Amino acid sequence: MSLQSERRQTWQQLVTQVRGEFVPLDAQEKEWIEVTCLQISRLQKRLDQIFRQADGLAQCRDCRGGCCALGHNHLSLANLLLWLSQDIELPVLDFTSTCPLLSPNGCIVPAEQRPYSCISFLCDRLEGQLQPKAVQGFYTLVRELRSLYSSFAERYAGGRLTGLLLTARRLQEKPFLQRIDSA
Ligand code: SF4
Ligand code: SF4
Repeated sequence: MSLQSERRQTWQQLVTQVRGEFVPLDAQEKEWIEVTCLQISRLQKRLDQIFRQADGLAQCRDCRGGCCALGHNHLSLANLLLWLSQDIELPVLDFTSTCPLLSPNGCIVPAEQRPYSCISFLCDRLEGQLQPKAVQGFYTLVRELRSLYSSFAERYAGGRLTGLLLTARRLQEKPFLQRIDSA
């Protein structure tokens, strides 16, 4: 089996597994997931506003998504749970691409759904477009965002920021949503 086929198969299996773990959760646990994912989404929208102030759309188009060539496995449990908890149709991943969310027109998911590594990053080119105060504001938001993503890592066995494909390998079919905190 090719590496792409293997990744596609692992992705499909892990989506089925996480959906199967998410659906029977009690209302309180689902609410925690939903609220935390929505907080993540809101912060990511604010980061995107600063990215746009830096003329990010045009800059990235001109650079032809240079940094996305390094992003083949950035999606984490929090990203998948946002889709599941909000009933958002899952994007169709293309594992032949450098990042499975990359299309010829750029990233196929909106900023509020992107992985942490993508949204928390200002390259030198973008940073150069911003006033120092805006850069400082960006990284203040990034710290808040990091702490929200970390809350998944502190709560669930599969919650680390490591991409889901690697997490699946580490867990070896154990539950992603197994609580590892004191609750
Ligand atoms: S963030 Fe920077 S490196 Fe990445 S695509 Fe945009 S301009 Fe290029
Ligand atoms: S998720 Fe989107 S922004 Fe991140 S590396 Fe992939 S295509 Fe680029």
